[in-house]
Amino acid sequence: MNILTFDIEEWYLERHVNGNRSKKFKEYDYYLGRILDLLDERGLKATFFCLGGMAKDFPEVVLKIAGNGHHIGCHSNRHVWLNKMTPEEVMEDTRIALDQLEQRLGQKVVSYRAPAFSIGQKNKWAFDILAECGITSDASIFPAKRDFGGFPNFGCHRPCIIDTGNCLIKEFPIQTIHLLGREIAYSGGGYFRFFPLWFTQRELNRSDYAMLYFHIGDLIPEESRMRTKEEYEEYFREPGTLFNRTKRYVKANLGKKHAYAKLGSLIRNHEFVSLSEAEETISEWNTIHI
Ligand SMILES: [Zn+2]
Repeated sequence: MNILTFDIEEWYLERHVNGNRSKKFKEYDYYLGRILDLLDERGLKATFFCLGGMAKDFPEVVLKIAGNGHHIGCHSNRHVWLNKMTPEEVMEDTRIALDQLEQRLGQKVVSYRAPAFSIGQKNKWAFDILAECGITSDASIFPAKRDFGGFPNFGCHRPCIIDTGNCLIKEFPIQTIHLLGREIAYSGGGYFRFFPLWFTQRELNRSDYAMLYFHIGDLIPEESRMRTKEEYEEYFREPGTLFNRTKRYVKANLGKKHAYAKLGSLIRNHEFVSLSEAEETISEWNTIHI
């Protein structure tokens, strides 16, 4: 099964962090519209993890996605990474985010993805907080090394149940592959933009489980600008050295030119389900104790 997911935050970040340019809002609307039309044509449903701040500031975007019958999950409130917050802050952020989304949608939201897959060994306490807030399924685990976040010793690359000792949560991790002696992802973000389409398709055909993840910003050909030191430190909460800023800039823009066309081909040529559809079809779950 191939699970198709999008993380929806660009409008909110553009308004509050990246300059509030009206041109960018139009671009995001346009690319989201194309994705929704394409999914409609194919009769496919996906999961869209939306910021609580999106529901507050751009309810029309969240309602449009939900109105097309897609599954809505939560992607935190302001896109602050969970490994940069205290447990109290994570609790507050999650409660506000769910409240904003549920108020606009008029329904419970029970699925979650942390910004930048920011739940790892050091902050696995976050699962207890998510469960306390009513989350029952999660897609925040990146079971390999990663610049930020990542949970390399998670021990499972397929859907499973996380048992923290205090709570149970259904987990849908990113699927990784062995390549050149390393464990890496291929099915979303910068990895998807970097690898040629034939490679991604070959891996999808080889596996019976894949988790695809995209941001709308990944699909816009125009390069984003490099953040200033102040902007970088405010957003990433780490030193905004030229090295750090350049590294993020290169990663954010790698392979953007052909990303939308590649995703379009994937959607036309492969079957996908939303996370909630996937959850219904799985009858046997392995349990992972963390
Ligand atoms: Zn995100």
